[in-house]
Amino acid sequence: MITIKDLVFAYDKGKEPVLRGIDLQIEDGSYVALVGPNGCGKTTLLRHLNGLLLPTRGTVLVDGLDTRDPKSLEKIRQRVGMIFQNPDNQIVGMTVEEDVAFGPGNLGLAPAEIRRRVRRSLETVGMVSYAQSPPHALSGGEKRLVAIAGVLAMDPCHIALDEPTSFLDPGGRRRVLGTIKTLNEQGLTVIHVSHDMNEITGADRVLVMDQGRIVLEGTPREVFSRLEQLRDLGLDVPVVTDLFWRLRRTGVDVPPGVLSVKDACWALSALIPHPREGQKES
Ligand code: ADP
Repeated sequence: MITIKDLVFAYDKGKEPVLRGIDLQIEDGSYVALVGPNGCGKTTLLRHLNGLLLPTRGTVLVDGLDTRDPKSLEKIRQRVGMIFQNPDNQIVGMTVEEDVAFGPGNLGLAPAEIRRRVRRSLETVGMVSYAQSPPHALSGGEKRLVAIAGVLAMDPCHIALDEPTSFLDPGGRRRVLGTIKTLNEQGLTVIHVSHDMNEITGADRVLVMDQGRIVLEGTPREVFSRLEQLRDLGLDVPVVTDLFWRLRRTGVDVPPGVLSVKDACWALSALIPHPREGQKES
């Protein structure tokens, strides 16, 4: 579990804090989405999860380990895998295999164990056939998948991803989102920073940040029901959510926070009177 208590952080002493008192508990195995306008502090918060940044005030505990304790940092970084916004910054090997082996190699594991982890991680992200390819020749989506494999090879419990689908074409996006979902189903905690509300409808919990604070949180349905508040923050909701919100405003009896086309079909079919049992439809 990741526990954040009264986290305040300023990049420079005496400057305005970027994080202004965050209290948060992230349950093991949950899928948490973090959204908010540009510059509200999402990346800064994410970087606290594995001790890349340390609190100016307050604490960040990862499975009970305090990020401010230098003796815990190595363990924390192994537990919380981090996928940065630009996958090129995370590439270190000449081949995909070498790249994924870099992390476990640094842990001093036996070569057979490193090979096993590399294979398993590449299988999980569907990139085994690229093992000998040079990472720089891959597409944006494939590079992200290799970065995820590199993190998986460290055997983390939690994975934090900073806008993992930015600049990807729809195919690359689908593959990366599918992989994130699979990892969560396999038991990993996912913390997913996103600017696209459509891609986080499957999260267990959505946190909305503004100016260094969490201003709204709940299930996607609860959060997307607060459409006006989201709009005030410059955030868009999925088109279908917006459409149903407008229907409700015109007095149509549909539920709030409709998230998907499937939800929408159910909501609409519930409006149509069904023939009574035994009565034939004409
Ligand atoms: P978000 O991820 O929500 O876009 P960030 O966490 O990247 O927000 O940034 C929050 C604020 O911190 C912004 O005002 C940004 O300019 C500032 N900031 C980010 N990185 C640094 C840095 N290395 N030094 C100083 N200020 C920074």
